[in-house]
Amino acid sequence: MIRRTASLALKQGQSDTIKVGILGSGITGCTVASTLLQSSSDKKFDITVYEAGRGVGGRMSTRSSFDNDSDEQIYQFDYGCRAIFPPKTELFRSELERWRKLGWVKQWNGKFVTIRCGDESSKNYNNNNQIIAEDTAEDEERYVGYPRMNSICEQLLQTKSNKSTVAVITQTRAAAFYVQSAGSRMWQLRHHDNAESKVLGEYDWLVCTDRNSASTKNVDLRDANIRPFNQLVNENIQSIPICTTMVILDKPLPITVDAIQIDHANNPTSMTSKFGTLEWITRDSSKPGRKQYNSDNSKTNECWVLQSSEQEGKRLLESKRLQGASLEQIRDVIRETMVADFKNSLPLLMSSSNACSDDSVRDIPLVVQSFGHRWGAAFPKHIAENNTFKSIDCYLDADKQFIACGDYFGKCHGSVEGAFLSGRAAAYHLIEKE
Ligand SMILES: Cc1cc2nc3c(=O)[nH]c(=O)nc-3n(C[C@H](O)[C@H](O)[C@H](O)COP(=O)(O)OP(=O)(O)OC[C@H]3O[C@@H](n4cnc5c(N)ncnc54)[C@H](O)[C@@H]3O)c2cc1C
Repeated sequence: MIRRTASLALKQGQSDTIKVGILGSGITGCTVASTLLQSSSDKKFDITVYEAGRGVGGRMSTRSSFDNDSDEQIYQFDYGCRAIFPPKTELFRSELERWRKLGWVKQWNGKFVTIRCGDESSKNYNNNNQIIAEDTAEDEERYVGYPRMNSICEQLLQTKSNKSTVAVITQTRAAAFYVQSAGSRMWQLRHHDNAESKVLGEYDWLVCTDRNSASTKNVDLRDANIRPFNQLVNENIQSIPICTTMVILDKPLPITVDAIQIDHANNPTSMTSKFGTLEWITRDSSKPGRKQYNSDNSKTNECWVLQSSEQEGKRLLESKRLQGASLEQIRDVIRETMVADFKNSLPLLMSSSNACSDDSVRDIPLVVQSFGHRWGAAFPKHIAENNTFKSIDCYLDADKQFIACGDYFGKCHGSVEGAFLSGRAAAYHLIEKE
């Protein structure tokens, strides 16, 4: 699928036209594209964003479904990034403020609690089940994409430019080839999954936004002639996989909180026995702009997202029954396991003093539908403490005109903020070098 924005058409082949190929349409790739589109440089950027997934957004993806006849929404889930938390840097604070003013994000006033194993000295110690629920800072501002998490990425790709253009090609995994011949060199992108390895386009600059592209298991950068970079990534970065399940309940869950973090750190054995794989339980329907009422004013089904802990997610994915399983089977096992954990933990969640709206309410809703998802690389992990990637915002090979960026760089790694900062730095480098 190819989508080209309405920016002015560009005459190709002009010397002041810089062709840029971007691998990935997550927040990093979209920030690079948007920053180039906004650039006041004399150069024109002819940008193509390739996305292996079905839609843009990467780990800020949203899954939704609509009724074919009435066009009414049936469900919507932000099944990757839950929320954007208070910025740590001025640069991201001002970008978030810009997004807020443009209506791309809205504040989520949902109530957050953390549940952990307590000891008898704890204020909220509950003698029956020995867990405590603590409100998370009420004044902490949290934002979500409006009307969906991935709409931030879509909006960034619509950035107006009076000279540059961007094309977005989804469902296409691109592999990069560095082609050098007498007096000329360029990046050639070819179809990764296509038997003929069809040429997709030729570019002056290559921007790679996914650390997995450097993996030895992956062909994305195998012929890119950037071995030092691939080696650096593989020696320094690991990917943390986790499991997610999207759940539709037939009616609202009668608890007064919208996001529950299960803190396994204090007593992992006890917490796992009570909550199984679960680390985050989020009422997605409570986010601003998400559908809460049907056209007849009745309450809609409620959408919840369950996210596993790192340890339990890994344990599940590495379990014997999943060895050699197909992706479909893996998703089914994730779904079954996490829905069972959710159901088992509900009585405890509902009886914990801070979470239940009314002690007399014990009317547990039914799960009407659920979907499992495996995030093979949910978060980056820096292997060594003094890791190169923590101190740089992106990687530049000016000679080859190659830039790597993504949420594995910088101090805010593993977050939307880190991804944004890295994408912004990458675009500035590119503009500066041109
Ligand atoms: C379950 C979960 C919960 C999270 N919760 C939060 C949270 O609450 N707050 C927060 O700030 N962050 C959260 N994060 C982290 C945050 O979502 C990420 O840090 C951020 O979205 C990363 O953006 P990115 O653009 O760097 O990478 P991605 O979003 O992963 O984008 C990379 C994209 O590149 C594509 N791609 C890779 N190689 C190719 C290729 N060769 N050709 C074409 N396309 C390619 C991939 O398909 C992918 O879409 C969460 C992440 C997960 C998984």
